[in-house]
Amino acid sequence: MSLAGTRAVPLLASRPVDRRRFVLLMAAGVLGAAVGRGTAELVEDPPSRSGRQLRPAAATPTQPPGTVPPPLGVVDRLPGEGSRLALTVDDGVSSDVVAAFTDLAADTGLRLTFFPNGCYRSWTDNAPALRPLVESGQVALGNHTWSHPDLRALDDAAVADEIETNRRFLADTFGAGETPFFRPPFGSHDGRVDRIAADCGHPTVAMWNGTLGDDRVLTPGELMASARRWFAAQSITIGHANHATVTTVFNELRALIDERALETVTLADVWAAPH
Ligand SMILES: [Zn+2]
Repeated sequence: MSLAGTRAVPLLASRPVDRRRFVLLMAAGVLGAAVGRGTAELVEDPPSRSGRQLRPAAATPTQPPGTVPPPLGVVDRLPGEGSRLALTVDDGVSSDVVAAFTDLAADTGLRLTFFPNGCYRSWTDNAPALRPLVESGQVALGNHTWSHPDLRALDDAAVADEIETNRRFLADTFGAGETPFFRPPFGSHDGRVDRIAADCGHPTVAMWNGTLGDDRVLTPGELMASARRWFAAQSITIGHANHATVTTVFNELRALIDERALETVTLADVWAAPH
């Protein structure tokens, strides 16, 4: 389908803060700070593996989960200290792999954050099974664009179109409320992309500091080596619902989580706007 021309209002830097963003920023308690800093300070943050702690609204260990507002800017690990692990699963090239992750969550209570690309039919195929998990909060959703382009290569209107089309898809398919989370395809983003995502209602750019490495086809051994390297307390780890390998090691992944006494959480368990 053509993505051109589906957005009536161009997203320009000078455009007034729109209602959705205003509400989100108010909810996040950062409107004053955002206006004071100017969005120009949403500078490019490369995909970091450093475990760097990120700025506004970083939790202290005493703050219970789910009460920290979503930060304006980039996150790549969970805030504070603890034993939480945020498993995030992207794309959805394979309907079978999305179905397997959905079954895994339903069968085990594992908490997951999906970053779907709506262009893949896997999400509509599995929507009936996923919807109750989304409604209960066991599965959270973030926006990963409609068709997974490198956003830095697109002009402002096309970036906004990719994000808006997917935002509407997630709302229509899962009945989900607004999600603050945005993950740029390939981790490719800069201050301009971040600003447009925020204008589209996603103030928080959810990067990662651990990876299963499964954006390419791995052997089960290679995938588990990645998991052993990266599954750690307060990590945001990225995986993909694209290739079947991961579905062959679900039991091993769960055993590793148990062995390390990690508690899986969704990003929305950690960062949730007050109601
Ligand atoms: Zn992706």
